[in-house]
Amino acid sequence: RTLQVDLGDRSYPIYIGSGLLNEAGLIFAKHQLSKKSPVLIVTDDHVAPLYLKRVEENLQAEGYRTVSKVVKAGEKAKSLDVFHDVMTAAIEGGLDRRSAVVALGGGVVGDLAGFVAATYMRGVPFVQMPTTILAHDSSVGGKVAINHPLAKNMIGAFHQPELVLYDVDTLRTLPEREIRAGLSEMVKHGLIWDAEFAAWCGENTDRLLALDPETLSYGLTMGCSIKAQVVSQDERELGLRAILNLGHTIGHALEAIGGYGEFLHGEAISIGMAASALIAVNRGADRALYAETVRLLGGFGLPTVMPEHLDEERIIGAMMHDKKFKEQQLVFVLPVAIGQVEIVSDVKVEEVRRVIRELK
Ligand code: NAD
Ligand code: ZN
Repeated sequence: RTLQVDLGDRSYPIYIGSGLLNEAGLIFAKHQLSKKSPVLIVTDDHVAPLYLKRVEENLQAEGYRTVSKVVKAGEKAKSLDVFHDVMTAAIEGGLDRRSAVVALGGGVVGDLAGFVAATYMRGVPFVQMPTTILAHDSSVGGKVAINHPLAKNMIGAFHQPELVLYDVDTLRTLPEREIRAGLSEMVKHGLIWDAEFAAWCGENTDRLLALDPETLSYGLTMGCSIKAQVVSQDERELGLRAILNLGHTIGHALEAIGGYGEFLHGEAISIGMAASALIAVNRGADRALYAETVRLLGGFGLPTVMPEHLDEERIIGAMMHDKKFKEQQLVFVLPVAIGQVEIVSDVKVEEVRRVIRELK
């Protein structure tokens, strides 16, 4: 499957399907990526032993020269130190303005390599080769960033890829927990935008969890397509794009107080989405909205209740740190119905406290 992402002034394709790693060289050539300039492949030490050699050999067979940089897996790779190391590899590898930087991995590698691509010689072509389900989300939108010790994603840029090459076969080696957590963002895309797709996720839960290639390709295409539609209407995050944050205000707070170890991102936002639905219900929405949200997420084995041991004050405290907090009123994305959300700016801290208690 190919999906074209249109961003007004430019557009790029997302290839999604089985066996695409074996076509990397051909697809690079089709999109006029330079064979005269070395290509830098950035990956991590979980992904490298599984797929790096195949990608290198495939690109080389098509006449590309490759340089590879393997970073240590995990969020810590999104640091200035590791950024510096990748830059060193780029310079030593002789990359020039027409060189492509390739991200082979999950969202971490995508964000890191993307920021290198955005800044090396003021910007070079960037190719995403996502290997996690969550990365269907991070590969669309053009946001690339590394972390500052004081705050996540603080040092970054907008840099759109030339193309995205998503081989669903690579997802077979993902730990099961990462699979479920990645699917949480897919369900989110249905919940914010497309009731039919949300229902489809519910009907195909087992096939998605089993990584059936056809089902997964369709789900990832839909997830990317919804994100692309939202982003193309608001590339610089001025308004509409905020709906992508469904479940994220509470989710980010849970991640922060869990020290980014207790919850995976997709798990934290799953609880956040359940909480948002309950806030909406407390404000008069149909209770079925909450029940259906929990049923959908629960089907994927995702958490939808607040862990008992998490202190209410700490959750609220972490949320107050959030930039969206103003004078006891929070900006929140709330569901209106399955497939539809609204942005409200008057959620009171007391309403959040209430759902934290209700969800325990
Ligand atoms: P990740 O990149 O850390 O990958 C998760 C784990 O799976 C890692 O240990 C990785 O080594 C391993 N892995 C990756 N592919 C594998 C495979 N095929 N087989 C076996 N193991 C594999 O995490 P993620 O969940 O993909 O991404 C999270 C990151 O994405 C965060 O840093 C987040 O900020 C970022 N993100 C960015 C955007 C954006 O718009 N730029 C959006 C959402 C998330
Ligand atoms: Zn997210």
